[in-house]
Amino acid sequence: MAGTPVNTAQEGERELNFWESLYLPEIFKGLGYSFNKFANEPEYTQQYPEEQWYPPDGYRGRPVLVEEEGSPRCVSCNLCAKACPPMAISMQSQEIDDPADPKEREPQWFEINMLRCIYCGYCEEVCPEEAIVMSKEYDLTFQSRDEAVFGIERLLQPAEQLIDRLNYLKSYRDPQFGEQWEFQKDNNLHSLKDRHFLQWLKEEGMDELETTHTREEAATPSDDMDWGSKREGPPESSYDSPGPGASEAP
Ligand code: SF4
Ligand code: SF4
Repeated sequence: MAGTPVNTAQEGERELNFWESLYLPEIFKGLGYSFNKFANEPEYTQQYPEEQWYPPDGYRGRPVLVEEEGSPRCVSCNLCAKACPPMAISMQSQEIDDPADPKEREPQWFEINMLRCIYCGYCEEVCPEEAIVMSKEYDLTFQSRDEAVFGIERLLQPAEQLIDRLNYLKSYRDPQFGEQWEFQKDNNLHSLKDRHFLQWLKEEGMDELETTHTREEAATPSDDMDWGSKREGPPESSYDSPGPGASEAP
């Protein structure tokens, strides 16, 4: 019946003694523990913003673009924008024709909407150049929505300032590739201008690749080429053969 107390004690359950049923000793024990911590433990509270927290290297703060020798490392491949779940990244690429620069493209403009960014780190994960990394900045404030859209000038940070994160990525990213493929800058430049392959071709005297067929040759069929003309009738397959009862169809 409603309002009737129900005894929920399990079979063989120990009963509280007199002091335990008063609860006071346990309360004082708990208070004693708290005062002991209060008096003897170091202070954990930080007086933010006067005291700033310096996050560990694995922390994911706002994403930034890595600047190397005055230009972005980014090769404008668009992978980060594709991978970004809330579609916070947009960019436009442009070709560059500087023989001294190993890159073939770089961003003409690059924007991240920090109101959309969820600090997931997917952009950093997919970037083949380690050109976009998660920084240690966590306290962003804006006066308007427009201010939250960071252009390339606010995104670029010198690689020297991001060395902690870059070293962290080097040590922890994709360790399973370690045996066969060492993750390092040399093989991380996705540009033909800088590929060892081109150097190798040069050393072998093959700086100009010769092809066996020109486009015109390939387009002109010769007599001994089988273009399927000798095939007689359609290929036999269970799908082409008439099914049972097909002959009875009108
Ligand atoms: S951290 Fe995530 S949400 Fe933010 S820009 Fe990168 S991929 Fe997009
Ligand atoms: S994935 Fe990296 S290299 Fe490609 S566009 Fe994004 S930042 Fe640039």
